[in-house]
Amino acid sequence: MAIAHILGYPRIGEKRALKFAQESFWKGSLSASGLQEVGQDLREQHWKKQQKAGLGLVTAADFTFYDHVLDHAILFGATPSRFGFSGILNEQDYFALARGNASQPAMEMTKWFDTNYHYIVPELNADTEFSINAHDFLSRLDEAQKLSKAVKPVILGPVSFIYLSKARGINRLDLLDKLAEQYAHLLKELHHRKIEWVQIDEPIFALDLSDEWLKAFERAYAWFRTSRPKLLLTTYFANVARYQGYITNLPVDGVHIDLVRAPEQLAPWLNALPGHWVLSAGVVDGRNIWRNDLDQSLQILKPLAQKLGDRLWVASSCSLLHTPVTLAHEEKLDAEVKSWLAFADEKLEELDLLVKAINEGEGVVAEALAISRTAIAARQASPRVHSAAVNARLAALSEINEERQNPFAERKHAQHARLKLPLLPTTTIGSFPQTAEIRASRAAFKKGEIPAAQYATDMENHISYAIREQEALDIDVLVHGEAERNDMVEYFGEQLAGYAFSQHGWVQSYGSRCVKPPVIYGDVYRPVAMTVETARYAQSLTTRPVKGMLTGPVTMLQWSFVRDDQPRQITALQLALAIRDEVDDLQQAGIAVIQIDEPAFREGLPLQGAEWKQYLDWAVRAFKLSASVAEDSTQIHTHMCYSEFNDILPAIAAMDADVITIETSRSHMELLDGFGEFKYPNEIGPGVYDIHSPRVPSEQEIEKLMQRAVEVVPVEQLWINPDCGLKTRAWEETRAALQNMVTVAKALRQKYQSI
Ligand code: GLN
Ligand code: ZN
Repeated sequence: MAIAHILGYPRIGEKRALKFAQESFWKGSLSASGLQEVGQDLREQHWKKQQKAGLGLVTAADFTFYDHVLDHAILFGATPSRFGFSGILNEQDYFALARGNASQPAMEMTKWFDTNYHYIVPELNADTEFSINAHDFLSRLDEAQKLSKAVKPVILGPVSFIYLSKARGINRLDLLDKLAEQYAHLLKELHHRKIEWVQIDEPIFALDLSDEWLKAFERAYAWFRTSRPKLLLTTYFANVARYQGYITNLPVDGVHIDLVRAPEQLAPWLNALPGHWVLSAGVVDGRNIWRNDLDQSLQILKPLAQKLGDRLWVASSCSLLHTPVTLAHEEKLDAEVKSWLAFADEKLEELDLLVKAINEGEGVVAEALAISRTAIAARQASPRVHSAAVNARLAALSEINEERQNPFAERKHAQHARLKLPLLPTTTIGSFPQTAEIRASRAAFKKGEIPAAQYATDMENHISYAIREQEALDIDVLVHGEAERNDMVEYFGEQLAGYAFSQHGWVQSYGSRCVKPPVIYGDVYRPVAMTVETARYAQSLTTRPVKGMLTGPVTMLQWSFVRDDQPRQITALQLALAIRDEVDDLQQAGIAVIQIDEPAFREGLPLQGAEWKQYLDWAVRAFKLSASVAEDSTQIHTHMCYSEFNDILPAIAAMDADVITIETSRSHMELLDGFGEFKYPNEIGPGVYDIHSPRVPSEQEIEKLMQRAVEVVPVEQLWINPDCGLKTRAWEETRAALQNMVTVAKALRQKYQSI
């Protein structure tokens, strides 16, 4: 008999109980034991849901109070020594690692593969001594085993753990044996506790691995030829068939493959699967929110079941960490769209249905299959999904000029003549402080407590305040401040056709931070202008140019749940056309500078190098399609943050924005070196201060950074601006920081104008 399981369950709770508990604990209004109770309660809920859904194994050890990679560093005794902690950490110390404390900065955080989840990067060095520290791990496992006999704990595999860490002064792999030895101790203990299966995640198989790393697997896993539970080696987010030779040599008892991302790897895996191995087939999408096409999944699974019998496990493609928890509390979501969706809890039911159909025949679940079939067919046929006008427009793309009318070398004269900006023009990235008044006004408007007219007046007042402040600061290119925007994707999504919004569809981004990505369910178009009135109002208040502010198509795509019934790039082109319409309307309204933000451009890059070119081609095309409607004299800006730009500089240049503003201050302008070496052709604004902290940068600091910038990029190409938007800051520090920035710009102008 086949069984069903998941690779992990979301930790945050149906209504973000974890977030509220964490934040209360940090504020001091929840005790440590209160926090622990919330954790215990959440874990119990998650296990009971899996049991109730009839999964053959209940997944444990996937819960964490902050991040699972951090928990592994603690589990194996690799807490950075700079904190001075040892043994079992109390809650305060635990969070200090993730968030920093009075004496130590936080451990670094970075993105988990190509998801929007961020993990804490373990810090290793030559002195790192691993030692097992499994108190929390084992006591939570006890809890699970009290509830269920079939508990499958999940651990992050040793090679991925080392790979995802950073090590100072040594080759990380030198630590591998010492670490694997500790893993072996843990596995022995789990065997002792009658655990039959352990899920061991090695997600780095999704990446391009060198021989050295591939060989490391054999070395590490050699430690596991001891008494231990059976091991299910899990891979996800990619086709891993190319590493089959390495994987099948490992002393494990099964492999999980992601058949949503890479269905084509099934055939090679079936051929190569060792005779006693389990195959865990990830057919239910852990990265997206669409209802599973059960008929299609059964078509894949039935022949597998015949061939493998009870060696077939039916699974989510990856951990459900990346999906919202449940549709149960969605009261406002459009009923039709809701019927097309499955969040984590609904995915548990799908898994159960699939194994029942396999084991007992489709007849036993006929009713559920029929419901699913109807929903799938309705979605495919729905007039709300398909717009003839959008399709016609896409089909006629060849009639559009996707390039600007003239090359930058010519456009810049038209722009300079129109804008009359000084050398080293100053600007900001878009948002100004989202003050308590702004948030209160928006909340009151959403609750229906104030009329639309009142809300509009409030926003106008905030905009005119921002304009006055910028004029007083003597900034050259102004912004309206984005007071009316809660979120740069949601704001546009709400005005575009094809988008839906959930009430509770939160997904953990890091620690207590959750995001609620909107759902793109249908063809996207822009029924009416979105920002023109606001832009026109802001521009009416000043004679200086005010930037029109838009979110770019790649970022809209990247930060939404995207349709799975057409390639991502088609959705990107639809978004691009909608943004293009807005660019055109803005320039018709007399807006001379338009910024199309693409902070998520880099993060869309595929995990495997072989796929980069294809992505970059369509991503660049989508951006250009949005921007190319601009006349020569309309200056197009773009903005990107916190990215490693160097490996994609040709693509960034190909976007052909007239000005790009980027985050560079945290790397002390090192990020700018690539632009200099590459001889980036257009104008560029390297960020001169980090907006993440309330600290006001001194004139000297800003000047030093700009001096570095002038060394790598010709001064007439440079702008001066902060790293990113200022929405999380307060006005007081914002004013002081920008004042220093403008002072430095003026001094540098004096210096370089005369040369
Ligand atoms: N224009 C946006 C802002 O200033 C850009 C945000 C971002 O880069 N993430 O807030
Ligand atoms: Zn930014």
